[in-house]
Amino acid sequence: MTTPPDNTTNPPPPTEPTGPYFAPLNPAGPLGEYVAIRNEFFWKAIHRVLPTPGDDVDIAFSALARNLDVSRDRAEKLYHGVARMASLPKLAAHHERGWYLDDNRLVVIGQMLIGVDDHLLHLIDDALVRLFTPTRKNQVLPDTSRVRKVIREILYQYYDLTEDAPEDCEEDGTRYRMDHRGQNSFLNVRMDGVDAEAIHEHIRKHAKANNCSFTKAMVDLILNGSKTTVVVNVFKPEGESMAYLPEHGVVTLDNTDLEIIERQLGPDRVEGYVPTAAQRAFIEARDGTCRRAHCTVPAKYAQLDHRVEYGEGGETSTDNLIAVCQHHHNAKTDRRCDYLFDPITGFVYWLFEDGTWESTEPQGIMAQRWRQTIAQRADQLVAERNLIPLPEPEETSFAD
Ligand SMILES: [Zn+2]
Repeated sequence: MTTPPDNTTNPPPPTEPTGPYFAPLNPAGPLGEYVAIRNEFFWKAIHRVLPTPGDDVDIAFSALARNLDVSRDRAEKLYHGVARMASLPKLAAHHERGWYLDDNRLVVIGQMLIGVDDHLLHLIDDALVRLFTPTRKNQVLPDTSRVRKVIREILYQYYDLTEDAPEDCEEDGTRYRMDHRGQNSFLNVRMDGVDAEAIHEHIRKHAKANNCSFTKAMVDLILNGSKTTVVVNVFKPEGESMAYLPEHGVVTLDNTDLEIIERQLGPDRVEGYVPTAAQRAFIEARDGTCRRAHCTVPAKYAQLDHRVEYGEGGETSTDNLIAVCQHHHNAKTDRRCDYLFDPITGFVYWLFEDGTWESTEPQGIMAQRWRQTIAQRADQLVAERNLIPLPEPEETSFAD
């Protein structure tokens, strides 16, 4: 008796891509194929049951919810996300080549684009393709908060995203309102973003110094005349009229009452352990946030970590410092992870104690792709200004 020949051959294990790729989609990673298949499967499945615009809303979304086995509310959000992709043709084609977008990312895209003018969609299309194009190996896939931020930064330039009707405001665009509810009152102020950031910094600094709440700090500063000194870093490419305020987006410096001090930023090295204010500002502009994946702590509230410890010969230079929040700094101090930093590209390569690794790109305004983005947006705005509904043309003009 002979055993039948074994003619089942195992397929070769998938190999790591030679070029850049996003970590969860690495075909040689533990779940790479499955993440791609999941996203592809969802995309194809929902297109089989997607309602058409003429359908009865209630019946259509109830059927979609039943078919997808989700709540009606979720079905509606998924519909808006997927249907809106038809107006982002480059992103849709890009997605079908690499399956980058899961249902949550699609929902966020749909929500962010509700009511957005068709003339702006190509800007968002381009920006999202850039966002979902990896430039390094094992790069962290941009999450929903990154998607939201990238879209919001474009919309802020064209729309007044606050809920106030213009007639509620003073002639200078500001508004001051006090509402009473029994024992409590609510102050609601609409004001210039740079001024607001400075006031917020005063309150935050005073609260931290006195270990009290932000509200208590504000009361103390105003009623008791306590004093703090703060600096708000606003970043401006040389020769451009636009400036960038982290967490806010593109701003002008025409409306602030603050004293403006200009400082040239660049890579820098100093003696001693403590980084200078200029180094901190440079790293804020380069890193944007804490450099661990998905961490959204702004770089200005993060610690500056010497990659090679100062006591071990590490320099206090922008090439040896990155922004890491307290929580993630502790993980490094406890030796649960470590990192390598490439000062040329700004990429950080995180190494974990279980032997895995991932790369994170810099997210600050100075990082190359954002600088390009801003410049492109400015060019497009100048070229198409007659197409775009600018609420206050004299304030958002980039032509001079
Ligand atoms: Zn962090």
